[in-house]
Amino acid sequence: MTENYQIVIIGTGPAGLTAAIYSARANRSTIVLEGPQPGGQLTQTTEVENYPGFADGIQGPEMMEIFRKQANRFNAATVFESAIDVDFSSRPFKIKSDADKEYTADAVIIATGASAKKLNIPSEHKFYGYGISGCATCDGFFYRGKKVFVVGGGDTAMEDALYLTHFAESVTLIHRRDEFRASKIMLDRVKEHPKISLMLDSVIDEFLGEEKMMMKSLTGVKIRNVKTKEVTEHQVDGVFLAIGHTPNTLLFQDVIETDDVGYIKTLGKSTYTNIEGVFACGDVQDPTYRQAITAAGSGCAASIDADRFLTEHSQ
Ligand code: NDP
Repeated sequence: MTENYQIVIIGTGPAGLTAAIYSARANRSTIVLEGPQPGGQLTQTTEVENYPGFADGIQGPEMMEIFRKQANRFNAATVFESAIDVDFSSRPFKIKSDADKEYTADAVIIATGASAKKLNIPSEHKFYGYGISGCATCDGFFYRGKKVFVVGGGDTAMEDALYLTHFAESVTLIHRRDEFRASKIMLDRVKEHPKISLMLDSVIDEFLGEEKMMMKSLTGVKIRNVKTKEVTEHQVDGVFLAIGHTPNTLLFQDVIETDDVGYIKTLGKSTYTNIEGVFACGDVQDPTYRQAITAAGSGCAASIDADRFLTEHSQ
């Protein structure tokens, strides 16, 4: 079965759903294929306090539900399907979904996001979002006067550790080696900061916590020194993983131009990709800011770019 749309948006989250709101309001027939994690990374966070317009904060999943409702209000279709194959060789573009459907599109907006890398140990799954976070700027505020750990040895880990000193009583940086990928200037700042201590050659073996009724909270971690093999237990209120992000671009490999890490390359300040009529927005093309508000902004830009492209092509 084939359905035809002017604009097909692949992926949700603030970028994809904002693109949908703008595209539908521009009177373009629009569908969003929500993908394997409808609503994106925000559905894995708890409270969002830094998105303008929600003065009292809002739960991430609830915020995405509001975005979706707003898109639906202007007749953008949103379906819980994942794109599994794309043909961008000529227009209209073709997109196959895991529901055995095919969509054609005069323009495509890619908003598949990125995923914060995880340690992939069983206890991490249990406490993710309940003391374990992949975003210091999103969740750091909740750790005022608390004890936090940051995992990683790159610039993000340094930046997160320094940022968290604004709130936390103490910050411990855990890194699996004794050498760093981070730039020297960032590393020096971390080393010199009185609130930050380093725990090197160390990895987290297990997250420890409490589960009471429906409430879960992280209370500690087991850390193994990879050289001495010694395992020690530490009390901690929050752990921030800063071990990199993976852009969700597997589907577009060899189709769309990406950088070395896999982020989609956009041209200049626009959302144009190397394929005419295919646009990218949000974290899938942004290794730098990665905020809900910047993703939403680029979703708006992608929709405007797509609308202008269609007008220029008399569609
Ligand atoms: P990086 O890939 O640079 O660093 C990831 C870190 O996480 C590495 O130290 C790595 O260890 C560690 N790591 C990866 N997997 C695991 C694991 N399973 N267990 C434990 N540790 C792990 O990612 P970043 O996000 O830090 O940076 C990405 C890019 O963004 C870089 O180019 C960086 O320079 C840039 N950036 C720049 C900033 C700035 O200029 N202000 C701020 C933030 C990022 P190992 O070293 O052993 O591999």
